[in-house]
Formats: sequence, structure tokens, C-alpha cells
Amino acid sequence: MTNNKLLLGVDLGGTKIEAALLNRDGEVVHRKRSPTPIDSYAGLLSKIRRLCEDLESSAGLSRPLPLGICTPGSPSPATGLMRNCNSTILNGQLLRADLESRCGRPVRIANDADCLVLSETSDGAGSSARSVFGVILGTGVGGGLFINGALLQGPNAVSGEWGHNRMPLERLPALPDQLLKPRPCYCGRLDCIETWLSGPGLALTHERLHREPINVEQLHSQQLDAKHRETLSAYTQMLAAALAGVINIVDPEVIVLGGGLSNIDVIYASMPDLLQAQVFSDISLTEVRAAQHGDSSGVRGAAWLW
Ligand SMILES: [Zn+2]
Repeated sequence: MTNNKLLLGVDLGGTKIEAALLNRDGEVVHRKRSPTPIDSYAGLLSKIRRLCEDLESSAGLSRPLPLGICTPGSPSPATGLMRNCNSTILNGQLLRADLESRCGRPVRIANDADCLVLSETSDGAGSSARSVFGVILGTGVGGGLFINGALLQGPNAVSGEWGHNRMPLERLPALPDQLLKPRPCYCGRLDCIETWLSGPGLALTHERLHREPINVEQLHSQQLDAKHRETLSAYTQMLAAALAGVINIVDPEVIVLGGGLSNIDVIYASMPDLLQAQVFSDISLTEVRAAQHGDSSGVRGAAWLW
């Protein structure tokens, strides 16, 4: 098989590494997963190399493909060193150069939110739109911007990093008082959007409201109990307030939600009315859609980097 028909992507997650070969129609033709080594950076590089070579061998490829890799953080434009990774073994490493020398191929890096946006604008929930804000709602919260056919790459390489803006709690006067205790973020700030809208943030909201642990199965149930309904109502109000801040600046046609929490259906039903109340406009036409490619957005977006 000739190399120019396939794209190689790797999603470097906190618990697993996923590698995939895509054809130019966006279909995954080979896929392989392996646990992420958490205590050895050298072991991590070797694991990525082995996954790439195994896939190429499965596809009968004779020469190495360029590699796109999805990471939890991004390289600093000043130093090239990785930063903002919640898989902290990566922080401070020259990941792109190290991978190029270890794997013998050119490498491009993007964070998980940018990969979600690339995947969903290529052939997913944002494929017909000229402007898309993609959001990861998972262990962390991140965002990426796609404008007029390309990812927006600013001078600081932080475009879309909305998860570490402050949650506009003053716009949510209906939230119960017991919720409003400040939340410290790992980044050193208080009340980052991530501390409210991530999976751990949602769990903390439930605990503060009801003094009991959240039941994840309930979140996806067709018959929500009253406590989880109240938790999700608070969560959806906060999500709308936070997204309205993005709409007031970028005014995207579509917002695509990805990550584990984007699978909670009740988020979407109330979003148009909540956004209408929060956006600085007499009408809110931005559509909020669930990502179409689910857990594969990282590996697919990474492949589309080439
Ligand atoms: Zn933060």
C-alpha cells in the first residue's frame, strides 16, 4: 500500500495511548491501544514508536508516515517545552523533537481540544460551519477555535483555552449559596471554568448540593432522580454562562461539545434558552451540538494534522 493514502495519528491520554491509521475519507483502517507509562518519559517515547511501527506493519507500509499527536497540553512557543499537561510527566519535555528523533519521522502536535475541533470540522458535527468553537468537557476543560478553514493559532498558542478563564458566577444569581464556595484550580487561580465544568467539578457540585457522591449512571438515565436533575440544571446554567462569554467575543456558528460529559443528553435541550438569556444579543443562533466521533476525536484530529 502506498503511504500517501493513509494518515497516522496518536492520542496520548492519561491512562491509554491510542494510535490509528485513517484513510483520506476519515475512516479508521487500523487502530491499536496500549496503557500509558506513567513513570518513565523514555518508556513513553518507546511505546509510541512501537505503536506506530506495529500499525504500519499491519498496513504493509514500507516507509514511516509523518505523525500527528494529540496531547493534553501544548508546547510553549517560546521554548518548545511542553506545558499545561495534566499528565505531568510531559511538562518541561521537548516532546516533538524527542519523538522525531526516537521515531525517525516528522511530528506535529496539537492539544486535545484542537484535535476535537479538527476531527469534527473535517467530517463531524462542525463540518458545514465556517466558525466552530470545540470544547472538551472531561477530566479537564479545554477549547479550540476553527475559523475559515483552519485552526486559529495565536502568538501565545493558547487560543480557545477558555477552561482557565474565571466562571462568571455573578451571572448566575439563582445558584444555591452552598455551591458558591471558591474552588482552587491546579493552575493556581480560583474558580476557573474547569473547576466547575469538568467531571470532578460536576461531582463536587453534586456533593455540595446534596451531601452525597454523584451517581454517574444517573447522569445518563432517562429517568433522572430529583437530586441529579438539580445538579445537571446547575451545571447547564454554568455551561451556558461560560459559553456566552465565548459567543460574545467569537460569535461562532457552531459549538461542538466533546469529552465524557458531552454524552449527557439533558445538557442540550435547555441550552438555546439559557444562551439566549446570557448572550449580549436579542437572539442567539449559535448551535450547540454533541461531537459525532466520541472518544476517537483525539486520534482522528491528530491524524488530520497532516
Ligand atoms: Zn485554572
